[in-house]
Amino acid sequence: MIIVMEREATDAAVAAVEAKIRGKGLDVHVSRGTERTLIGAIGDERKLDPEMFEAMEGVEKSMHILKPYKLVAREWHKANTVIDVGGVPIGGKTVQVIAGPCSVETHPQMHAAAAGVRAGGARLMRGGAFKPRTSPYAFQGKGIEGLKLLKDAAASRKLPVVTELMDARMLDAFLEHGVDVIQIGTRNMQNFDLLKAVGQVSTPVILKRGMSATISEWLMAGEYIAAGGNHNIIFCERGIRTFETAYRNVLDVTAIAVMKRETHLPVIVDPSHAGGKAWLVPALSCAAVAAGADGLLIEIHPTPKEALCDADQALTPDEFAVLMHQLQAIARAVGRDL
Ligand code: PEP
Ligand code: MN
Repeated sequence: MIIVMEREATDAAVAAVEAKIRGKGLDVHVSRGTERTLIGAIGDERKLDPEMFEAMEGVEKSMHILKPYKLVAREWHKANTVIDVGGVPIGGKTVQVIAGPCSVETHPQMHAAAAGVRAGGARLMRGGAFKPRTSPYAFQGKGIEGLKLLKDAAASRKLPVVTELMDARMLDAFLEHGVDVIQIGTRNMQNFDLLKAVGQVSTPVILKRGMSATISEWLMAGEYIAAGGNHNIIFCERGIRTFETAYRNVLDVTAIAVMKRETHLPVIVDPSHAGGKAWLVPALSCAAVAAGADGLLIEIHPTPKEALCDADQALTPDEFAVLMHQLQAIARAVGRDL
């Protein structure tokens, strides 16, 4: 059972609901978000009826949720949730594009990339400062210095930034450096301590799908973040592992439609890590927007051949601008803007 409190519900009203649930012998989980408080009753729900709470002060609505994921489920929140990232709405009518290099490398690289992001019409910039690399000998990212370079280049074009957090011990540094969206990568989708840590802050989180995770596991990972009180979650499909070896991962287009049905939260797509080749990015981007994605996360680099990470899949700024133009027509065809 989930009890949705009104935005202005008082602590006393929350405590009264809590007491009523405990009185019936069930446990309580309170998730205090910046927008509203959600109360979950854990235990034998047959002892509860939604009507028991509906007349109580501060209660907006209450209902049984059948799915194992509760707070992220569309069951209690039929409308799409729109997440504001520094004035850029994600999950609304406009398909938002986040673009930038795989890794933050240098000041000139980041400024050229930021210019490309803006020229193409994207509203947010990405760039990895802490890189999860398969080899310990590969470029690991610039660390804190990278966060500064990313923020500086993006600020010059008034773009909020997205960057990956691998270690909960770096969370404070991310907040101090003004990271606008925290990305949890595919390799950490079920790093539950990391999920709990980002659940404690209000910074929006992009939660990438684990490369071998089911949709249900992915939603449950989102539930960990929401349970902590951070309701600003953006799911990102980035391709899954299958028997196919002709390209990097299989973009699970079906998952976009399934996720949009299962969750009220925004669902975006990363065509770059799905395809792994720059020439595949346009086709996968078009498919994603046509299937209902709320946004795209695309790797671009001023000189892809020189990229220190994921050189094969980066678009040049010119290729990116052409793609953005093409995507506008697809977005319009499905009743969206871009
Ligand atoms: C990335 O976006 O830079 C990245 C490492 O992605 P993923 O976690 O999807 O591999
Ligand atoms: Mn990459």
